[in-house]
Amino acid sequence: MSRLTDDLNDPQREAVSYGTGPLLVLAGAGSGKTRVLTYRVAYLLANDRARDTEITAVTFTNKAALEMRERVETLLGEPLRGGFVGTFHRWALEILRRDPQAAGLPRRFVIADSDEQRQMIKRELKKLGLDPKEHPPRTLLGRISGLVNRGTGQAAFAARAADSQSELLARVWEGYEARKRAAGAVDFDDMLVLARDVLRDHAEIRSRVQTRARWLLVDEFQDTNALQMDLLEIVLSGDRNLTAVGDEDQSIYRWRGAEMDNILAFERHFPGAAVVKLEENYRSTAPILATAGALIAANQRRRGKTLFTNREGGDDVRLYVGSDERAEARWVADRFQELQRRTPLGGMAVLVRTNAQTRSFEEEFTSRHIAHRVIGGLRFWQRAEVKDALAYLRLVVRSDDTIAFERVVNVPTRGIGAATIDILRACADRDGTTMVEAARKLPDELSPRARISLERFFQILDEAREQRTELDPGDLVGWLLEAAGLLAMYDGDDEEKTARRENLQQLAAAVAEAAGRGQDLEAFLDAISLLEEHDEDSSPDAVSLMTLHAAKGLEFDVVVLAGFEDGLLPHSNSRDEPESLEEERRLAYVGMTRSRRWLAMTLARTRFLFGTRLPTRPSRFLEELPADCYTDVSDSPLTGSPAVFGPGAPAAADRAPRPRPAGRPAKKVAATAIDESGQGWRPGDRVRHGRFGTGVVLACQGSGPRLKLVVFFDRAGRKTLVPTIAKLDRL
Ligand code: ATP
Ligand code: MG
Repeated sequence: MSRLTDDLNDPQREAVSYGTGPLLVLAGAGSGKTRVLTYRVAYLLANDRARDTEITAVTFTNKAALEMRERVETLLGEPLRGGFVGTFHRWALEILRRDPQAAGLPRRFVIADSDEQRQMIKRELKKLGLDPKEHPPRTLLGRISGLVNRGTGQAAFAARAADSQSELLARVWEGYEARKRAAGAVDFDDMLVLARDVLRDHAEIRSRVQTRARWLLVDEFQDTNALQMDLLEIVLSGDRNLTAVGDEDQSIYRWRGAEMDNILAFERHFPGAAVVKLEENYRSTAPILATAGALIAANQRRRGKTLFTNREGGDDVRLYVGSDERAEARWVADRFQELQRRTPLGGMAVLVRTNAQTRSFEEEFTSRHIAHRVIGGLRFWQRAEVKDALAYLRLVVRSDDTIAFERVVNVPTRGIGAATIDILRACADRDGTTMVEAARKLPDELSPRARISLERFFQILDEAREQRTELDPGDLVGWLLEAAGLLAMYDGDDEEKTARRENLQQLAAAVAEAAGRGQDLEAFLDAISLLEEHDEDSSPDAVSLMTLHAAKGLEFDVVVLAGFEDGLLPHSNSRDEPESLEEERRLAYVGMTRSRRWLAMTLARTRFLFGTRLPTRPSRFLEELPADCYTDVSDSPLTGSPAVFGPGAPAAADRAPRPRPAGRPAKKVAATAIDESGQGWRPGDRVRHGRFGTGVVLACQGSGPRLKLVVFFDRAGRKTLVPTIAKLDRL
């Protein structure tokens, strides 16, 4: 017993052994919140304060849930049998699986995956006579999910839909709900909604779940949304034994409806709640804490906390600026190889804001045989969207690549299903040709629709082959992504789609880079195939590459925060709005505080984007840090502040644009030219144009009345405009 409280400090012990009623442990990163949660479960059980069937502990990711269970079982010295330890979604699913009829669900209801969700929306759009291209199903689903997670259902939304856009959404949504019902399906969000409704409306079920959650514990409470909060409030009964632990400075899921108010105003939600603050950080050395603390101090929306460490000394936090992303990765690989003498690779991590950034690290680590794995995501070359694009390229280079053909003939969906493929295979067998050749002949056995689709598919490939003689390889990829409709598949603003578009951009960049090294498209594709063959790293002792979102709650000895640039961190989608900017700052804070003893921030002076190499701007967060927080170890350090590379350099990572539309070959521009006409246009300025929408100024050419701006519009691509005529608004 004493073992359970001996290795805790006073406030931790107070929280672990706290009696009944709501309790909030509010504390900074690495102060032992998760430790308190697991010790409290063990303590309650070991002291017979709770039966194991009365424990419900929830968190946000499967990995965290697994770790929590393991820690509790280690403390108890035996398996935890009756209690629930898992994610919110698993909790909801268990409730629904037990009593599906209470939720109006069939006994064997199914969970619709994102593909099936999209199909349902698409069919509904067609039924309503609407064009899915104009109303992309993914965008509609994103909006629906956002509303649901903020607690708004279809009926409530429909009742107050005031403009035509909302009315349209309400109608599609209504049909989507009906389709799910008809199919006996629920989507991910439904699980939470239905579980809440069942608990609210069925006293018997509620009472059973309440007993099972007599002791309810929630980790990462700062990321709960309205729905999750509803669930918690319904389930709490009797003594209302909720133990919530969290840190408002680590709330990073606003885009999924996370409501910081749940933690900021905890006592209002749960009257009579006790609040315990933990102030000693056991994870990080003093220099790391000082840097992270200085950064987060700039946020307004926080309760404010002190955090100290007794861990004396520690390495300086480092800043490294490389000439480009390859140099950035090289420096990191050098350091990891040095540090490897006293730290296993498994204790090292590279954290990035966007998935696409892992590519240069993956390449560098692979070439140096540094074991690594991409956590919470696939390796760059294995990602579905990248493989699809590669398959198209393979078909451009080798027109009878059957595997590539089968992979993408129906990507994006063009009505060529398994039946069509079977017919083509039979034709190929009969005529002794490849399937691609058989398809080219558009055999009569096919339906008229399949024939039209195939014809269009081959047209795109033929055009691409023609373009190949005119365009640089990188531009060819850009053209193809657009012409084949691969980019349009990921239209929309949510994180996942943006990430997938960025990955496709990265592929174009990789091809262009390879061409710069004298590698043509064929050689490039071969190199990639070889890379894939040796790709699997099963060793547990491997460097982790992951996004900041995936890193929440984890800890490493050595951490690199890569791409510390404006446009990446803060991300260009988020930096114009104060609330989003604060969330980006919290992300950077989460990243820094993952480190136990060695932390570096790295950035590249230039990045390959917009189909060309552009200068970047250091993260504005760097300017907020006192200079003595970090040591600049670059070959040519950043000098002074504000740190900007070159005059008026645009942020290369600015909202990744789409490649040029068909038929418009690349024109290289001098990206750093600045406007000397006195109108003050600078590359990097965000603008809005009546027809083309929003974009970023890439370069200024000429001066005075002859001044022209090269602008990359988010949707319309690259345009050259005369600002006095074109009526551009600066944002
Ligand atoms: P985060 O905010 O990142 O989720 P956290 O507050 O949940 O962090 P933990 O992961 O529980 O922090 O703890 C951070 C580290 O400090 C862990 O390695 C943990 O074992 C250690 N630790 C916490 N409390 C103590 C303590 N009283 N004595 C020794 N080590 C401790
Ligand atoms: Mg934790």
